[in-house]
Amino acid sequence: MSALLSQSKDELAAWMQVQGEPYFRAQQVLRWVYAKREFDWSRMTSLSLSLRDRLSRFWVLPSLTLLKIQESEDRQTLKFLWGLRDGKKVESVLILAPGRQTVCVSCQVGCPARCAFCASGREGLLRSLQAEEIIEQVLHTQKYLDSKGMRVSHVVFMGMGEPLENLDIVLRVVRQLSDPEGFGLSQRRITISTVGVLEGIERLCDEDLNVNLVFSLHAPNQHLRKKIIPYARRYPLDQLLEALRRYTTKTRREITYEYTLIHKINDQPAHALELVALLKGENCTVNLIPYNQVEGLRLERPKGSDIEYFRQILEEGGLRVTWRYTKGKDIAAACGQLALQPSSFVTVCK
Ligand code: SF4
Repeated sequence: MSALLSQSKDELAAWMQVQGEPYFRAQQVLRWVYAKREFDWSRMTSLSLSLRDRLSRFWVLPSLTLLKIQESEDRQTLKFLWGLRDGKKVESVLILAPGRQTVCVSCQVGCPARCAFCASGREGLLRSLQAEEIIEQVLHTQKYLDSKGMRVSHVVFMGMGEPLENLDIVLRVVRQLSDPEGFGLSQRRITISTVGVLEGIERLCDEDLNVNLVFSLHAPNQHLRKKIIPYARRYPLDQLLEALRRYTTKTRREITYEYTLIHKINDQPAHALELVALLKGENCTVNLIPYNQVEGLRLERPKGSDIEYFRQILEEGGLRVTWRYTKGKDIAAACGQLALQPSSFVTVCK
């Protein structure tokens, strides 16, 4: 059996044609799932019983099982644990802010980048997710929000995994989420975050897309970057920056450079000055993220005053800087804290 949400509208319509059904049946089915968040064939009452029976025997729906939800103390961040059909698990996060409901999705089980500060990469890559496994993270979260009268406003590929290592699938997901007959989310509200896969960035330059791109820099030079992100050994930093410049030129969208500040590793004033020299003149914003504690790692978060000084040097050097307010730290849902074996989950939904 194949997964329904791995299919585009035209692919599903081709199946309908083989079944002797008109094109619009494919639109009806997708509307049930994307617009009404209905995952039970028996409730798709605008379809004949015979068609519902054939659909249920041919297509898998849903592909994810919601295992647990954990909510932060301030109730602004929720972490979802999903069971996959092969028994593996992934997490996604819903971040609530005034007028903004962001879903942070995972695109792989584990991650090949193995960043030194991140829980997700500790066991390396186990497998890439399929399109339906990513799309359903968004749709099930939307179903949760439906009960509160809210709508997913942004989707960010910042959960577990490296999106550009699963690019065919990620592009399919972007297209289906942004299809007006799919989830209907503007591509300008979709963000792909990467540690830097040169061929992937070059391919994004050639795709007809308008998504935001975030680059995980985390160090002002290649030598230190390789220590923080083992995966960075694959591509020279100058070539990645050149490819990111091309992306900006092509899409007119500025790049956000993420910089996780780790005490005594990359948070010194000399690092800030080097960062200014590296990025001066780029159309970009630097997003500073104080390191979030991960169990078993000996790294430390810098003091607030050190972060402030680091930021001041960047701003005086002419860079645009944001300092990400950390959300969901108490439920290990903050940046770099999603893990394969979430031991501290509290079950609230099942
Ligand atoms: S920070 Fe992102 S890229 Fe790095 S290991 Fe974690 S999930 Fe992978």
